[in-house]
Amino acid sequence: MPVSDSTDHEGVIDRKLVDTEETNEPRNPNDGLPINELFVSLQGEGKLAGIPSVFVRTSGCNLRCWFCDSYHTSWEPTHARLDLEEIVAEIESYDADHVVLTGGEPLLYEASVKLLADLDELGYHTTVETNGTIYRDAPIDLVSISPKLESSTPTPERSPTDVGEWEQRHEADRIDLDSLSRLVEDAAFQLKFVVTGEEDLPEILDVLEALRDATDATVRDEDVLLMPEGATRTRLAETRTRVADLAMTYGFRYTPRLHVDLWNDAPET
Ligand code: SF4
Repeated sequence: MPVSDSTDHEGVIDRKLVDTEETNEPRNPNDGLPINELFVSLQGEGKLAGIPSVFVRTSGCNLRCWFCDSYHTSWEPTHARLDLEEIVAEIESYDADHVVLTGGEPLLYEASVKLLADLDELGYHTTVETNGTIYRDAPIDLVSISPKLESSTPTPERSPTDVGEWEQRHEADRIDLDSLSRLVEDAAFQLKFVVTGEEDLPEILDVLEALRDATDATVRDEDVLLMPEGATRTRLAETRTRVADLAMTYGFRYTPRLHVDLWNDAPET
């Protein structure tokens, strides 16, 4: 269960028309953000795992990982469009100092920059969870970058649904060295790789080598987190020991998925 009831938030979402418009087009920041969920829980992943946080999940993504654990922000984006004032008011209604702006891909939207500036002014610690393909100049306390490996690409064999054009689009867009470089230069960061097995490690090492060549920022092995693929306890039980062993072998950090351990695949966790 989440650490706090989220009924009020659901009320806000329910009072809005939930639509499925194409979310990737530029919009005026005054139009607000497409919000899929807004809730309080424990941060489940990364350096800040275990910290009570308000999660603001935007809808819409420029990638389509076959294993996406927020399907309703990517393959079937659904949301209410909320004004930034409404989002901030919802955040302030919870007793938490940390805000996680996640998705989908929250940096698709210029309005995310304005929201982060407002939260910075209010004294919140902000984490932005991004796939690393889009850079925006915004006040961020921790940018949690999850570069997508080849093992994320939707193929007809891997995906339960029709992948259509997304196999090519995802493969073409999933790594953007320029955006990755600018993101790690601008804020404290963690690089969080979703790992299925040892076959992912050569590509992770290649991405790190290319990034270290491309940026002046120092990318330490302790900033690199291996996270087991799996959005359910059953799947995680198959991957986590393997991934923990790989983290020890290669000298990277292992990150748990506390929310899956605690609440399996329940929404708003
Ligand atoms: S980048 Fe993230 S939100 Fe987008 S499809 Fe992949 S896992 Fe889902």
